Amino acid sequence: MKPGAKRIAILGAGPAGLTIARLLMEQSDHSVTLFEKTHRVGGKSLSVRQGEDLIEFGTCYTILSHRRVMDWMREQGITIQQIVPHKIDGIPARDFFNSGPGAPLAVQGISYVLSRRKLLKALNSDTPPQKALEEAATPAVDWLRARNLGKIEKMMMRTVTGMGYGDLKTVPIVHAMRWVDMDLILSGTLNKIYMPVEGWSEFWERLAKDMDVRLETHVRHIDRSGDQHMVVLDDGTEETFDALICAMPVDRFSALLEPTESERVVGDSIHWGGYATTLISSEDWFEEQIEYYSETCLPGVEPGLLMSARREGYDAGLGGHLYIANQLPGDYTGPELIEILREEVTRRGGSINAVIQQEVWEYFPEYDPGAIRKGLIARMRQMQGERQTWYTGASFSHESVANICIHNEALVPQMLKALG
Ligand SMILES: Cc1cc2nc3c(=O)[nH]c(=O)nc-3n(C[C@H](O)[C@H](O)[C@H](O)COP(=O)(O)OP(=O)(O)OC[C@H]3O[C@@H](n4cnc5c(N)ncnc54)[C@H](O)[C@@H]3O)c2cc1C
Repeated sequence: MKPGAKRIAILGAGPAGLTIARLLMEQSDHSVTLFEKTHRVGGKSLSVRQGEDLIEFGTCYTILSHRRVMDWMREQGITIQQIVPHKIDGIPARDFFNSGPGAPLAVQGISYVLSRRKLLKALNSDTPPQKALEEAATPAVDWLRARNLGKIEKMMMRTVTGMGYGDLKTVPIVHAMRWVDMDLILSGTLNKIYMPVEGWSEFWERLAKDMDVRLETHVRHIDRSGDQHMVVLDDGTEETFDALICAMPVDRFSALLEPTESERVVGDSIHWGGYATTLISSEDWFEEQIEYYSETCLPGVEPGLLMSARREGYDAGLGGHLYIANQLPGDYTGPELIEILREEVTRRGGSINAVIQQEVWEYFPEYDPGAIRKGLIARMRQMQGERQTWYTGASFSHESVANICIHNEALVPQMLKALG
């Protein structure tokens, strides 16, 4: 190690852990070690080969806000391919958004972006005014309707509910705002949406190849009582570090150590939702690349229903065309979701020949509105660096690789300054 370099432990080698490791390696001489409990890097990115086809069960797309990630993809020799313009209820996405009530989409877009900027700026102050906290906790649909943003509501049905980021009837507007920014509006209307041809899993493996990643490593306990942090593994091995980065769910991180007040409050204020992706085969379903169904993304809709499906290829041995079908699991079990899916595919004009693989993800950490009103977001900012511990991942930004990477780009300079 170079003189003055510090040892940093990162818990979790998903997108959050890998992107912050990469930024630290680019910008400092500190030594970075990632502890990952599973046998692979990438977390909720999972590309599975089925014959000729590569199926994404987790992370799929990049949009304009994935700039940094796409730069790294190019650097790693990953081919980035634009997807074909997608349709919602059989009509082009832009026409679907435009079918919402109110002023033209461009006018609503500007109005939304200005209101968003104002609220996020207020929330970013050291002591956000109570009015801003109340506004941030407002259910998305109420906030949008109070401002006559009917076309933006239609866009959010697709890009918020349709992507598992909460029911517009209940999800606090601050969550929707973190994701729906100018980049997303432009990406959605101009179809600037891409996928990595070699797959997300391959990308993360290539990015991680120069990193010290300890796979299948179970951390039993972390002791922060001394000057340095001691990480104790299941086999009894101990290693000391100058700083820790939590890149795994914070509630489970807290179970590994004596949590601070903020770690406890944040863990208690987050409710994890889910997202189910099921690979099925059919000989008689749709021929488009992707289909979205608006009816199942309406505010207040029941979980389990089919929100969208993507055609992934053809494999006669597996029963025909392959499709990834997306459902919000709610409290349903995997087999129950498959039963609902069979009915849903029939309702949408197809029939399932085989169910090949299902993944039910822990997904979208939603903040309790009461905790937002009590200043949760400022607390999450202010706890960074307490006890030489930093936090990243979906809970601290948003459930998207773009947001996570942008969060890390802002966090790393703060961290480096604090580490000296
Ligand atoms: C179906 C689906 C589709 C998606 N589509 C997109 C998309 O199109 N575009 C996009 O940008 N994002 C998408 N996402 C979201 C994106 O995948 C996630 O936001 C991202 O993976 C979150 O990264 P993370 O590192 O915070 O968490 P995770 O990906 O969950 O990674 C956390 C890592 O920590 C590890 N870990 C947990 N506990 C421990 C422990 N005790 N010790 C060590 N390691 C531990 C886990 O094994 C995991 O590897 C999608 C997600 C899903 C599920």
